[in-house]
Amino acid sequence: MIVELVSVGTEILLGNITNTNAVYLSEMCARLGMSLYYQTVVGDNEQRMTETVKTALGRSDVVIFTGGLGPTDDDLTKEVVADVMGMELYEDKRTRKRIEEYMKVYEKNNPGRKITKNNWKQAMVPEGAVILDNNNGTAPGLIMEKNGKIAILLPGPPNEMKPLFEEQVYPYLHKKQPDTIYSQMIKICGIGESQVAEEISDLIEHQSNPTIAPYAKTGEVHLRITAKAKNEKEAKKMMKPVIRELKSRFGKNIFTTEESKTLEQAVVELLQEQKLTLSLAESCTGGMVSSRIVSVPGASEVFREGFVTYAEKAKRKRLLVKKSTLKKETAVSAKTAKEMAKGGCFTSGTDVCVSITGYAGPEGGTKEHPVGTVFLGCCISGDVTVRECHFTGNRSRIREQAAVSALTLLRDCVLENSKKKK
Ligand code: ATP
Repeated sequence: MIVELVSVGTEILLGNITNTNAVYLSEMCARLGMSLYYQTVVGDNEQRMTETVKTALGRSDVVIFTGGLGPTDDDLTKEVVADVMGMELYEDKRTRKRIEEYMKVYEKNNPGRKITKNNWKQAMVPEGAVILDNNNGTAPGLIMEKNGKIAILLPGPPNEMKPLFEEQVYPYLHKKQPDTIYSQMIKICGIGESQVAEEISDLIEHQSNPTIAPYAKTGEVHLRITAKAKNEKEAKKMMKPVIRELKSRFGKNIFTTEESKTLEQAVVELLQEQKLTLSLAESCTGGMVSSRIVSVPGASEVFREGFVTYAEKAKRKRLLVKKSTLKKETAVSAKTAKEMAKGGCFTSGTDVCVSITGYAGPEGGTKEHPVGTVFLGCCISGDVTVRECHFTGNRSRIREQAAVSALTLLRDCVLENSKKKK
């Protein structure tokens, strides 16, 4: 079945809100095994909405609309779709009662605030439509079916739209589309996107079902393996050999196969497993790595201290970097990164310390070490590994790449250290 998304709302066109509904619904449609070919955003304008509805229903089997179901005059989705599909509107007694009850509770819980009478507009529904009760708002969702076409209308606020979709629309569409799409994620760090693409080009060239789709994120590559089958069990079986092959090709560079796991989470878990404590000695990243580590619940078990040593004096005072090193080698050098990491371990008393020092630009840099040059150090059990990196992009891109590379170096060193111990 071909499905299409139409997001209604001038505020989306103006860039005032991000179209997160479309992101969510696209993923849900993929999970349902539906083919999504088009997504449209249209403002609250009757004529342009009519054209959009006609086009979408003309080329797709199912069109899912979000937004424009509210009580105000510019909320037109239901009226326009009903008009295009040739369905009359009538007042649904049950929906009116539900709105009345919702209003009573709302007014009781929000003294001084009143829901206005134009809310009754939301009790008007098209003849023959399936009404989807909305427990989180006043506008019900609607499923309208006519002449082999299906229009699904959902409210714009995500906290209303998502439960309606999950509880009522997903099961409805699942029945219409018995195939399931199942996908599994493989997340890789420490290898660039083009290298990953090259290493799997043979698999991608001959793929049909399952498929492998690479996505690049700063410093990471995510591979989504997707299979279409009658049920989840069969899809998983089809995916197994592909996943095995990818695991053998990327080995230790795979930091997780869990959809929601982040690199920092994988790193914190690894430190917990190895019972290692961590400190960070940051310069150009200004605490970004510390912040990413602290974002992981349970980080307190491993993370002790983060130094933001931006000035040379701070590097000397907090991390015991030698004056002569800073003078001879400069603050952005392999030797400084090494001394920062070693000094971090010493002053904080941790097992591991990662250091980051570099030129984030736009000013600065030298002929030998231009903007984008970043030195990373990792001290673990007294041994220090230093990595020289050359990043491109603006200041924030360089800092982001430096932060993710520091996490990757940390992970590599902890893995290496645990191998040595065995
Ligand atoms: P309401 O009854 O609240 O007016 P509605 O169905 O008429 O709901 P809109 O008025 O179009 O929906 O949007 C209401 C709010 O819902 C927006 O201000 C925005 O916060 C959120 N919203 C709408 N569309 C989207 C979208 N595509 N992605 C994310 N949020 C959205």
